[in-house]
Amino acid sequence: MLPPDWKEGLVSPADFYGQLFELKPGSKTNSLVKCCFHSDTRPSLSINLDSGKYCCFSCGAKGGDVIDFYQAFHGVSFRDAVECLSSNRFDYFPVPAIQRPKKQSMDFSWLLKRIWKEGQPISKGDPVDLYLAGRCIRLAEYPSVLRYHPNLQYTHEDDTKTFHPAMIAAMVDDNGKIAGLHRTYLTEDGSKADLSKSKRFLGSVGTIRLMKPTKELAVAEGIETAISYHLLANIPAWSCSSSRNLEKFEPPEGVSTVFICADLDRSETGVKTANALASKLIRKRIEVRIAKPPLKGSGDWNDYLKRITT
Ligand SMILES: [Zn+2]
Repeated sequence: MLPPDWKEGLVSPADFYGQLFELKPGSKTNSLVKCCFHSDTRPSLSINLDSGKYCCFSCGAKGGDVIDFYQAFHGVSFRDAVECLSSNRFDYFPVPAIQRPKKQSMDFSWLLKRIWKEGQPISKGDPVDLYLAGRCIRLAEYPSVLRYHPNLQYTHEDDTKTFHPAMIAAMVDDNGKIAGLHRTYLTEDGSKADLSKSKRFLGSVGTIRLMKPTKELAVAEGIETAISYHLLANIPAWSCSSSRNLEKFEPPEGVSTVFICADLDRSETGVKTANALASKLIRKRIEVRIAKPPLKGSGDWNDYLKRITT
């Protein structure tokens, strides 16, 4: 039990905060200081020198008095805080500001493995087969880097979760190690799911090695584009997943000619990306062809395949 007069022995908020924050003489009752609950670059912690109330506008740390502050700061019990804050135990200060460890980048490897294992080979009539067929992509055998997931979680902006059939694709880094998954959320009948983002990355963006290269290899941004170009030109094709990753593409050993599939869009990102990659590869003495789909306006090789097939 604390003695009945414990409150009287407590340090005043002005003295407490004064020691911690080097307040200038004559500081206002409500002062703004650099927060010690997060690595603050400019003052965002409001402290009241009368009541001891504090509140950080940046990290949200808050409490009603210096006891709350002391408990939160040192992670001690109420009783210990009261004991330390009684004047005779005030040699606890000054204290170094808390340096919260920086958030580490998420390690997705366990989740990648789990989702990949839950996937199954694409088979006739499943949502992925129906989705690809709807885009005029028909293959006797689907690449093993593509799988069908019957019930993949989708996290919405408000953090609610729903489950959908999906096409999952393994994205690998330059060493061929799985670095991430490309997910295309679908409906049971093979349409794109009506979600704010029906295509999503998990982990690092990498290359989807759809087919075994010969001396020739075609590269495209999207999965559907890459396979469409393969069906039209009979050249093995990979998807680089994003235009930024396409620009960084490094051909594997043994490939001497690279066909770069350029998407046609109004901003000309597709053509610019193709040109940038082409100049890089030419400097490395690799033969390059830029393959633009014969379309007026915007579109990609899948749009062209659909036009001539349907
Ligand atoms: Zn803060």
